[in-house]
Amino acid sequence: MATTTSLSVYAERLRRAQATLAERNVDFLFVGPGSDLMYLIGFNAHLSERLNLLVIPKSGRPSYIVPVLESFLVADRGELMELKRWEETGNPAQLVAETVGDPKGKRIAISDQLWSMFTLRLQGAMPSARWASAGPVMRALRISKDSQEIETMREVSRLTDEAWAEFLESGQISGLTERQAMTRLGEMTVKRGVLGGFGICASGPNSASPHHHTGDRVIQPGDAVVFDWGGTLNGYHSDITRTVFVGEPTEEFRKVYDIVLRANQAAFEAVRPGVPAEEIDKAARSVITEAGYGEHFIHRVGHGLGLDVHEEPYLVGGNTTPLAAGMIFSDEPGIYLEGNFGIRIEDSVLCTADGAERLNNASRELSVMD
Ligand code: ZN
Ligand code: ZN
Ligand code: ZN
Repeated sequence: MATTTSLSVYAERLRRAQATLAERNVDFLFVGPGSDLMYLIGFNAHLSERLNLLVIPKSGRPSYIVPVLESFLVADRGELMELKRWEETGNPAQLVAETVGDPKGKRIAISDQLWSMFTLRLQGAMPSARWASAGPVMRALRISKDSQEIETMREVSRLTDEAWAEFLESGQISGLTERQAMTRLGEMTVKRGVLGGFGICASGPNSASPHHHTGDRVIQPGDAVVFDWGGTLNGYHSDITRTVFVGEPTEEFRKVYDIVLRANQAAFEAVRPGVPAEEIDKAARSVITEAGYGEHFIHRVGHGLGLDVHEEPYLVGGNTTPLAAGMIFSDEPGIYLEGNFGIRIEDSVLCTADGAERLNNASRELSVMD
């Protein structure tokens, strides 16, 4: 349920969206269900074959096209936008076209998250409009977080850290399957109010696969075990990775762990406003390359994080976007030795006015579990 305070936040975001449209000479912004819609009106619309669409004109009142049976869910947002309900037998694309008026020459930016089935119908209903991706507009709005978003990100990250501290003390994981271990950690996360999470538990040789699908392998002494998980608070995601060793760590594990930890720290220290995103990747990668493991660091060092688990800015070679205060992204270098083990250490990091702040402060020291 929206409160008066949160509605004013969304009213302000809609105003910023309209200012961005005006700056970029875009006449309308079309936004369907997904994180862009969550950002603009705080509504988690049902993603289905029935069209929900926010139509924001460059100036004037936004409209929300909604199936009549779902209109009750947005009834409390009437001051943000005009609700335009369509019946089961109606034609929502036509309703959108009527909202736009004469489409000739109009520039319409359409959300990247809208299903192509809707995009194609809308284009069919307004063939003389000029269509573009809403990506650049939404990116300009969302790439730096405001103070309210930052507070939520701090909180969801802190709660996820707490779950990890409890998990480390929760007893033996040897003998559990990956799925059982992940369920235990997931429950410790959920009971803190961090919901709707994802989780990867990758043990032994599986830890060398960065996006391993958690399965039925039984964790054993001598395993490296990667836990990469997170959940949401008010729609905002945490995303953290810790790698533990079961039993007494081998020399090789200790050595590689130390390299990954130094790479994580090097990336963190490189963060400040104005630095190109790719430089953060380079900072971590040069530590790993100098240590002789460059070819085993097989992914970018990080991704933006917020209403989506993966969003801009991407910290990857070739991305020269300068960092700015308010950006939040992961710092997650890893080394993956196929058939043997993998190690990844991931924190969420906030770029501040003069440097960086880690949102995750769960211990990064080598941890051993039984
Ligand atoms: Zn990943
Ligand atoms: Zn992760
Ligand atoms: Zn991540």
